[in-house]
Amino acid sequence: MPKETVLAVEDEEDILELLRYNLTKEGYHFIGVTSGEEALRRLRTETPNLVLLDLMLPGMDGLEICRRLKQDPKTQNLPVIMVTAKGEEADVVAGLELGADDYITKPFSPRVLLARVRAVLRRRRQAPPDEAAPLQIHELVIHPGRHEVLVHGQPVELTVTEFRLLHFLARRPGWVFTRSQIVSGVHGDDYPVSDRSVDVQIVGLRKKLGEAGKYVETVRGVGYRFRE
Ligand code: CA
Repeated sequence: MPKETVLAVEDEEDILELLRYNLTKEGYHFIGVTSGEEALRRLRTETPNLVLLDLMLPGMDGLEICRRLKQDPKTQNLPVIMVTAKGEEADVVAGLELGADDYITKPFSPRVLLARVRAVLRRRRQAPPDEAAPLQIHELVIHPGRHEVLVHGQPVELTVTEFRLLHFLARRPGWVFTRSQIVSGVHGDDYPVSDRSVDVQIVGLRKKLGEAGKYVETVRGVGYRFRE
């Protein structure tokens, strides 16, 4: 397999060097730039496999870069991992809704960085499972056609909305979804789903799943994910 290329946009030189060191050591081809303008220029000639995007940049900020990448047919499928500081959860939510894949918070360990990069590249290679196909994950089996969930082989009674919520999250384990992404993915019939009611539905879902409820994780300030 040819080397995969990571383009990093980061104005702090020491962080850029940390990224370069770790990703190069892991076998990735690395391109580092210090501004959004430079990133967009490089993307006219380079086709990386993934972009690591600092959100706080002088000049064009990370969210604006993300918006432009997602608007351009040439780059809209390019995976983006946002690199954020603590307290930037509102920007993380905005970035995920623009189409960014994931985020890591500074300071990060090289191990976490590499795991996220590998996970996003792997998920992009695998198509999400067929929406109608039974899904087996951890000790759960989810049968979309039958609207049935088994935990350790035992059926669990869920409402239509709880079922859809579980299926939506579990089809893409490890992905973080914002409340509004969940609302548009779930379309409740029995219950008008709003950002706020997602939280209520999650509480109900976890309770019914019992021990397996732990896989439905809260990502503070951002949303929810099903544990990988
Ligand atoms: Ca910065």
